[in-house]
Amino acid sequence: MEYILVYKNRKTVAIHIQKNGEVEVRAPRHTPVPLIEEFLNEKREWILKTQKRITEQKENHNKLMDANEVLFLGSLYSISLGEENNVIKFCKNRINLPDIDFEEKKRLLIRFYKKEAVRYLKERLELYSGLANIPYKQIKINSATTRWGSCSSQNGINFSYRIMFLPSVLIDYIVVHELSHIIEHNHSEAFWRVLESLMPDYKQRQHQLKEFTKTMFPYVF
Ligand SMILES: [Zn+2]
Repeated sequence: MEYILVYKNRKTVAIHIQKNGEVEVRAPRHTPVPLIEEFLNEKREWILKTQKRITEQKENHNKLMDANEVLFLGSLYSISLGEENNVIKFCKNRINLPDIDFEEKKRLLIRFYKKEAVRYLKERLELYSGLANIPYKQIKINSATTRWGSCSSQNGINFSYRIMFLPSVLIDYIVVHELSHIIEHNHSEAFWRVLESLMPDYKQRQHQLKEFTKTMFPYVF
């Protein structure tokens, strides 16, 4: 098995599969190579499974490009092309898009998702902020790819427009999670206690979010 070996100041050996499928081993300095290879052998099945998942995700990428389906608020809408005037329309279980090239379609959809995100998230944030009596400063929508939301030290809350791919119960989890950061700007035990007091079933939603994220990859843009 080919791998990249990186020696670091750490105590244990860890395997990291990169986005291109390459295997990176992070090991404490002076770890003998045979020991590392033995470890790799033990983890062989997991490595192959992870690499396979990455390849599949790439192949599936991207439903929008094939112009067949769009994910919005946790539901799939089949795409109908031929909408005029560069607008997006939802109609029952279909979404009507103009017949423009992929990049333009993507731009149009991102603009639409951002607009919807502002409207939708403002409403949810105001609801929970009122219920919990936690005031926030402002809400901003960005295009972050690695995090759903964040909370600044000045108590401004940011969300990625990609949050609009998620079902509403999971969006609510992220909203309440970020709101709780206004009380506790960290992930300490105190933070999780605040979150639990506002959303007693948060662990279940956290788990659902993890599962949903695994399957939504082909629909992400
Ligand atoms: Zn957090």
